Parts: sequence; C-alpha cells; structure tokens
Amino acid sequence: MDKVTLVGVYMTYVNKSGEIPALADVHLNVKAEEFVSLLGPSGCGKSTVLSLIAGMLRPTRGQILIDGEPVAGTSPKIGYMLQHDHLLEWRNIRHNVYLGLEVRGLADKEHCRHADELLIRYGLGGFMNRYPSELSGGMRQRAALARTLALEPEVVLLDEPFSALDYQTRLLLEEEVATILKQERKTVILVTHDIAEAIAMSDRIIVLSARPGTVKAEYTIKLSGKNDSPFAARQAPEFREYFREIWSVLEESHAAAR
Ligand code: ADP
Ligand code: MG
Repeated sequence: MDKVTLVGVYMTYVNKSGEIPALADVHLNVKAEEFVSLLGPSGCGKSTVLSLIAGMLRPTRGQILIDGEPVAGTSPKIGYMLQHDHLLEWRNIRHNVYLGLEVRGLADKEHCRHADELLIRYGLGGFMNRYPSELSGGMRQRAALARTLALEPEVVLLDEPFSALDYQTRLLLEEEVATILKQERKTVILVTHDIAEAIAMSDRIIVLSARPGTVKAEYTIKLSGKNDSPFAARQAPEFREYFREIWSVLEESHAAAR
C-alpha cells in the first residue's frame, strides 16, 4: 500500500482579489520509505502540495490519503520542515527541540532524552545550551531536523531546507540528512528547485508544470555505484543524462511561468 496518495487534487486559493488556481488534477503515490522530490518553477504549487499532505490546508477537490486513510487535519505521522528554520531566538537549542514535544504534550523524560540523543547524533551535543543566533546556517537546519524527528514522524516533508545555505554546507548537509532519513527509514517528500540535489537524493523525481501545477513528468532515479550517498551519486555516469533531460522538461515549465 502507498504511504501517501493524492488522487485528482485541485487547490484554488480564494482571496479579495479573486481566485488563484494553484494545483489542478494532481495524482501522486509515494511508497513507504521512498524518497521523492518535487521539482517545478516557483509558484507552481510545490509548497501547497506539502501543506495539503500535512493537513494544514484542505483541497478544493480530490483526495489525500496517508496509509490509505483520508487526511483530516494535522497528524503525528507527518513531520514538516520549512525552508526557514523557525527556531525561536529566545530559547536555547535544546528547548527549541523540546518545543514540538511540549506542543504535543510529549515532553516527558523519555522523549526529551531521545531529543537530546538526536542533537548529539547530529553533531550538536556541544551546542544544546547555545541560542540559535550562535549557530551557523547548517547547524540551525540540523537543529530544525532534530526538532522534526524528535516527534518520530513516519513521513517527513522538506520544503527547500537547503536553499539558504552556501554550496559547500549544502552538499555536506544533503549527505547527512540523506543518511539520517535512510537509517531511520522515513518516507520523504522533498521540495527543491535544485535539479542536481533532487537527482542526488531521490529515488524518484516528480516534475510539476507551471501554475496551476500538475504532474508533468516523472523519473525513477537509478545510478550505478554507491547509491545512498548524494555526494557519490553526483559522480555516477548516469547523473548528467538525468540532469539534461529534467532540465529540458523544466525549461518548458519555466517558459510557461514567465
Ligand atoms: P511554490 O512552492 O511552488 O513556489 P506555492 O505552493 O507556494 O508555490 O504557491 C502556489 C501559488 O498559489 C502561487 O501562485 C502563490 O502565489 C499562490 N498562493 C500560495 N498561498 C496562497 C494563499 N494563502 N493565498 C493566495 N494565494 C496563494
Ligand atoms: Mg514553495
């Protein structure tokens, strides 16, 4: 059974200036433990797809299922990590990570100890009592990941989590995050506009059209050599071919969005 299913999903935002159709007839199936990336021009509805899966928005039409059950509001099965880390500057890193637990009423000893373990595992053991402003961009994103995973979600939604980082940090963090999510056997949906990042990290890539977004193309990524490392993936002989093909499909979407 699919972990996440979208069937004929439409989303139209309504505000004072009128209606904005963001998604039209989106179909999507994500298997358990699969890593899927969504690529598409800016404004095509990628973040909307994640917010719908997270139960933060309701579709205008169509169905969204998690483990075959219709989504009805937010669920502890879903972890959502946004581009901006949303760490609270007045709380230290440990208490930022505990925040999600507190909101869910799960801030007991056992959960807090697990959260501490995650921080240590992600190289932040020495920074637990520091404040967000004292951390680098990459460390902040690792703290935000710890906060998301402390809630033990089964599905992790990542909205351009690396886009504000410099290139070197981004490559290192891609590698770390991919390893962590594979080890913890999470189902992952990553939104990015970086084609190379999508190829390096994903089992499958979905390309969306310009707004209203709909699935335009799909690629199952098979790279020879060491597969689980995004860094090694970039050296695989097939990498360039995927890049070229996805680039040309995205070009059409971008042209339509202009
Ligand atoms: P992406 O993440 O691909 O850049 P979004 O999902 O954020 O795209 O947005 C898709 C479209 O819907 C955009 O044109 C955006 O302006 C519009 N949109 C997003 N959120 C709202 C909202 N709350 N009200 C009205 N329009 C919105
Ligand atoms: Mg977005």
